[in-house]
Amino acid sequence: MSGILSAIKLREAGFDNLVIYEKADRLGGTWRENTYPGIACDVPSHFYCYSFAPNPEWSHRFSPGAEIQTYFEDVARRYEVDSLIRYRKEITRCEFENGRWKIETADGSTDIGDFVIAATGVLHHPAYPEIEGLGSFEGAAFHSARWNREVSLKGKRVGVIGTGSSAIQIVAAIVGEVAQLTLFQRTPQWIMPMGNPAYSEDEKAEFRKHPEAIEQLRAEISYMFTEGFSNHLAEVDSPQMQAIHAACVANLENSVKDPVLREKLRPNYRAACKRLIMSESFYDAIQRPNAELVTEGIERVEKAGVRTRDGKLHELDVLVLATGFRVDSFMRPMEVIGRNGTVLNDAWKGGPFAYMAISIPDFPNLFMLNGPNSPVGNFSLIEVAELQLAYVMQLVEQVRSGSWKEVSPSNEAMSRFDAERREAAKTTIWNSGCKSWYLDADGLPTAWPWTFDRFREEMSQPRFADFEMR
Ligand code: NAP
Repeated sequence: MSGILSAIKLREAGFDNLVIYEKADRLGGTWRENTYPGIACDVPSHFYCYSFAPNPEWSHRFSPGAEIQTYFEDVARRYEVDSLIRYRKEITRCEFENGRWKIETADGSTDIGDFVIAATGVLHHPAYPEIEGLGSFEGAAFHSARWNREVSLKGKRVGVIGTGSSAIQIVAAIVGEVAQLTLFQRTPQWIMPMGNPAYSEDEKAEFRKHPEAIEQLRAEISYMFTEGFSNHLAEVDSPQMQAIHAACVANLENSVKDPVLREKLRPNYRAACKRLIMSESFYDAIQRPNAELVTEGIERVEKAGVRTRDGKLHELDVLVLATGFRVDSFMRPMEVIGRNGTVLNDAWKGGPFAYMAISIPDFPNLFMLNGPNSPVGNFSLIEVAELQLAYVMQLVEQVRSGSWKEVSPSNEAMSRFDAERREAAKTTIWNSGCKSWYLDADGLPTAWPWTFDRFREEMSQPRFADFEMR
């Protein structure tokens, strides 16, 4: 998503010597890799697309993953950036040498770049749980992001470990097909009821005829997300955060009939502390006669299934590990060596960070999209990437115009940004008493801790004084 964006916008700005390196044999990132049943984006489709490439054809408010994948392929083709992509070219090493980046790929080829944009995504290294005996399971076991399409679930006993966004979508999608569904829940999740109506042919025709109607819809969604959510993540007791919590509580109360099951599903932390889950079908799914919610901890995996700490063996044919991702890798395992031999792994040994979520001292002319400290949560990462790229292009322009040769933030600016970010993170909703992938090893939220309006403002123009000009 962000690589295609970068190529389109850089080319529009007159850069014609561009290459997109892609480790896989197909573009699409998240939407290529995640093909599990029920996959969809929980950001409305008319907002989860490029601002410059609206799509009147979206089938649903939250369209399925395959449709999103097709959208990216189509945009890449229409904007003729697909020809810039070198597939199956995993970059293994980038070294800043004599004012330029020397790039090496896994197959031994090299390249030289004046700029590197790491459009490498966040959630792409599956996290496998450390559960004893996982390898001994005799059925099929796979991670949600490595879905095995060769395994039919029809009539099978399927176990799902995890209750994050992926698991909730999977459970709702497969419960009608499987013989028995067992959901292993370590921590319950708040669920925001969110309908997913299809767009009628008339509505699509209207969008085609009147693109301004899409613009209007985007503006409304953007307002709703910013004012109803992302501007208030830092105010735990704001009316908006309380309204979200109340909506989730009401959803649980109204949707789950059995009081025992209801209490098992009730989180003991604030809604939106973990990523808020949008679903109008999960509670129905878990109340089906063939579904079981297991809250007892997992002891180990055995040949025949999962044994919980109460000694019970849950016999299974298929085990789905919807256990999330390793989130602190970013562009790694790529080896990145900056100015004076500074190694990224060393710079980030206490955890990844980036000035304004974009760049790192001593790594000149290297920029990240959706990198460390970026805004994350229930909003469009496409909007985030577009704002970040507009910022990056202003820095790149300084080099193109000959003002600077190398652009990187000063250590002083980095320390100041990091100290302010850490302080602000303490009062965010993510720090209100839950564990999630939003937290670093010390338990502090890593995402942009201020309002989204502040993010927009910061991205509108770099604070040039915070950069070292060489
Ligand atoms: P996740 O939110 O990190 O959830 C992982 C789940 O696995 C959690 O419930 C976790 O329990 C559980 N888990 C991990 N290790 C375990 C273990 N050893 N034993 C038992 N349970 C274990 O991962 P995800 O669901 O893949 O979602 C990751 C992110 O991807 C989301 O937050 C979201 O940003 C994105 N996503 C978005 C959409 C969308 O619709 N836009 C859909 C899917 C994913 P604990 O809670 O106890 O840690």
